[in-house]
Amino acid sequence: MTATIIDGSKIAAKIKSTIAEQIRKRAEEELPAPGLATVLVGDDPASRIYVRNKIRTCEKLGIRSIAHALPADTQQRTLEELIDYLNADPKIHGILVQLPLPDQIDEYRILSLLNPQKDVDGFHPINAGMLARKESEPWFIPCTPAGILRLIHSVRPDIAGLNAVVIGRSSIVGMPTAQLLCRNNATVTICHSYSVGLPEIARRADILVAAAGEPRLVRADWIKPGAIVIDVGITRVDDSESEKGYRIVGDTDFESIVPIAGAITPMPGGVGPMTIAMLMRNTLIAAGRSACKIR
Ligand code: NAD
Repeated sequence: MTATIIDGSKIAAKIKSTIAEQIRKRAEEELPAPGLATVLVGDDPASRIYVRNKIRTCEKLGIRSIAHALPADTQQRTLEELIDYLNADPKIHGILVQLPLPDQIDEYRILSLLNPQKDVDGFHPINAGMLARKESEPWFIPCTPAGILRLIHSVRPDIAGLNAVVIGRSSIVGMPTAQLLCRNNATVTICHSYSVGLPEIARRADILVAAAGEPRLVRADWIKPGAIVIDVGITRVDDSESEKGYRIVGDTDFESIVPIAGAITPMPGGVGPMTIAMLMRNTLIAAGRSACKIR
């Protein structure tokens, strides 16, 4: 067996093209362009690249992006005032606070201050809580987990009853992904750095999501033949042979897994593009819900 390579870039491009079309229709109806405020604190190189890519995608799709870049020594009060200001601005439909925030900032408090209806990343405690309750629909589902589900659905539209194993339990990837899979009726096992016997647990997975941030953690002998494998990991490792001095590595040993899995995401070109596409989608949804018609 050779795994189907799940082309995240292609699936994301299709989603983005639909979004661009919907934004054109909004303009014809004289509705304002969706507005996304990005908030970047400090100069973490990876965060800067992520925010830059999000802003570029906004520009391509017709989303108005308003970038706020604050110095690394920004104090809690200053950031809270900015969030209050963005919450109150009717032209801003979505607010993205790039994580992680510097140590002096209380991240949970900042996320809690966001208007949950502008929380396009889906990290506000109300949105996280609503995702955890099967009876409620969150205003927004976090972008990476939402993208992961789309990738899985592209090869397996119905996952009811399948065994899903998620490696990683962070609030932004692992846990919401597990909740989303559970809401879609998979039987979910969540693993983390204290889990014992990871290879055996992984081998039972019909769907394996690797979100640990550990380069090539998942090996070929961890894979059940035919399984769907989603590689979320993005880790920079030193590489003297590369021009940049580093290369980006995923959480799976991709080449050795391809002959065994049923489907697998590449890295790059798998989950990453979907995260941005889902952010754009959430911003459009936020604008659509807004009654505001100010230009
Ligand atoms: P995190 O560090 O907050 O969480 C990692 C989780 O993995 C923790 O729950 C930890 O217990 C678990 N873990 C770590 N090592 C493990 C091991 N050896 N065995 C089992 N569990 C282990 O990271 P995160 O924010 O959840 O991100 C995870 C990875 O996904 C990172 O590489 C990150 O860069 C990447 N990421 C990618 C995207 C994307 O769009 N592709 C988006 C977000 C995060």
